[in-house]
Amino acid sequence: MNVPLVDMHCHLDLYPEPAMEVARIAGLKAYVLSVTTTPKAWRVTSSLSATVPRIRTALGLHPQLAKARKSELPLFDRLLPNAKYVGEIGLDGGPDCKEFWSDQTDVFEHILSSCERLGGRILTIHSRSAATAVLDMVERYPGCGKPILHWFSGTQRELARAAEMGCWFSVGPAMLAGEKGRRLVGKMPRERVLTETDGPFACVDGQPLKPAECSEALNFLSGAWQCDVQDAAVNVLNTFRSLIVD
Ligand code: MN
Repeated sequence: MNVPLVDMHCHLDLYPEPAMEVARIAGLKAYVLSVTTTPKAWRVTSSLSATVPRIRTALGLHPQLAKARKSELPLFDRLLPNAKYVGEIGLDGGPDCKEFWSDQTDVFEHILSSCERLGGRILTIHSRSAATAVLDMVERYPGCGKPILHWFSGTQRELARAAEMGCWFSVGPAMLAGEKGRRLVGKMPRERVLTETDGPFACVDGQPLKPAECSEALNFLSGAWQCDVQDAAVNVLNTFRSLIVD
C-alpha cells in the first residue's frame, strides 16, 4: 500500500531507541505526531525529529503528571507560541489519579485558556474515566482549537456529545482489541477519525506498538466502513489533511 500512514499520538521519546524509530518512520513516509508528557521534554523531543518534517512534536503536560509538573505551566506558556500541536493533555478520572483531581483540572483549564488566547491549537486529549469532565471543559473554551480525543473510552452518549461538539478521534490497535472500543469506533463520524498507536505505552500481545502498526487500525476501519484497506487509508489521510489545514 502506498498511502502514507498517520499516527496521531505516539510517544517517540519513550522508545528505548528513539533515533531508530525516527529512521523507521522516515522510511515509511508516515505522518507522526510525537506527543510529550512534560513541557521540559518538548525541546529535546522536537530535536529528535528535526530532520523529518512529517514528524511533528506536540507540547504536553500529561494529566497523570499534573500534580508533579504543574510548576512547568509558565514554561508551557513560553513554548506555546512555537507549538502548533498540544498534547498529551487532558483529565484522568481513574482511581490512581482522583486524589489530585483539582491539580488536573487547574492544569487542563490553564492549557485550554492559553491555547484559546493564542488563537487555537491542534490538541490531543486523554479522557480516561473523565469524558464528561473533558467535554465540559473543552466547551468552556470554544476557541481552544481542534480537540482530538485520543483512545476515547467513554459511553456511547458521551461519544455522541463529542461528535456533536465537533471533536476528532484517534483510534489504535490497543483500543480496537476490546469489544467496547470497536463498538465506539463504529459510531464515530467517519470524516473525523484518525489512527494512532500510543506507543510505546500501548501494547498488543505484550509488545509496544510502533507507528507502522497503524495499519492494523486501518484493517479494522476498512471492515467497519465496508471499504477496502486502501480506501480506509485514503480516508484517514484526507481527514488528517483537513485537520492540519490552517
Ligand atoms: Mn499517550
